[in-house]
Amino acid sequence: MPDLRPFIAGLPKAELHVHHVGSASPRIVAELAARHPDSKVPTDPEALADYFTFTDFAHFIEVYLSVVDLVRTPEDVRLLTYEVARDMARQNIRYAELTITPYSSTRRGIDEKAFMEAIEDARRAAESELGVILRWCFDIPGEAGLEAAEETARLAVDLHPEGLVSFGLGGPEIGVPRPQFKPYFDRARAAGLHSVPHAGETTGPQTVWDAINDLGAERIGHGTSATQDPELLRYLAEHRIALEVCPTSNIATRAVADLDQHPVKEMVQAGVLVTINSDDPPMFGSDLNNEYAVAARLLDLDERGLAGLAKNAVEASFLDAAGKARLVAEIDTYTETWLAG
Ligand SMILES: [Zn+2]
Repeated sequence: MPDLRPFIAGLPKAELHVHHVGSASPRIVAELAARHPDSKVPTDPEALADYFTFTDFAHFIEVYLSVVDLVRTPEDVRLLTYEVARDMARQNIRYAELTITPYSSTRRGIDEKAFMEAIEDARRAAESELGVILRWCFDIPGEAGLEAAEETARLAVDLHPEGLVSFGLGGPEIGVPRPQFKPYFDRARAAGLHSVPHAGETTGPQTVWDAINDLGAERIGHGTSATQDPELLRYLAEHRIALEVCPTSNIATRAVADLDQHPVKEMVQAGVLVTINSDDPPMFGSDLNNEYAVAARLLDLDERGLAGLAKNAVEASFLDAAGKARLVAEIDTYTETWLAG
């Protein structure tokens, strides 16, 4: 099998499922930690590499929360956002819908208007200086309950920053039923936002049905368990409800036992629109290029197959029609030029 990594590295890509704080690479964490010397996070790259080596999922949560704690001021928010875009540019990610949890920042005392200005300033700079188009998904941290849902809906609807395109729901699924969030999704959707909840990552296919029926899901975060329900797979395929598949994340969180048991092939064979994403890339020791390499192996893809995956993400994105056409043309030109050698 040829080494597809050089092709993947240059392939123009779109990413639809990637978290803001979860994208903080050791380089970014070191910069943030240097701004806040009282934090316990190490600042030198070698110690940080050890710090980012997770022993188990509880350790992952601990590290994740310590990074959340480093984002204390609007300038931290701006730095994190812009530097995440820089890491994307290095992988030739041309468009990303970044999932942001504004509640975890406003609850910690960051002024809400300053928060919105910080992400918007970073978004404009990322587009003009790095060529990365960013859009936002504001998500409810499910574990924080209905108060967080209310606050996230208020921030999304009342402040509605220009880059905001969608409304999501993350955090644990077990013990956090999707239907209770219906009123908040109704409000966000009435304000023109798309619905993209996480569902079926750690619970069964019924959660995906709930996300569709109660929350109006237009894409599903993960949807790993959808393959347990043939009728659901048919529904997803027929209605072009895309799945945001994050293979390495699914192994790291034990949603799937190992890569060879990952259901992505069944999803594709059922005709579902599958997109490949990285979720919390540095925290899972991955990045989008690596996820594409994993997908190529699991799905037996060549260069054109990988270009097809990249185009799936463009199709399932909330980019406007002209932006989609431009990005698809870029992917096609790159692929044909590469194959012409
Ligand atoms: Zn996620």
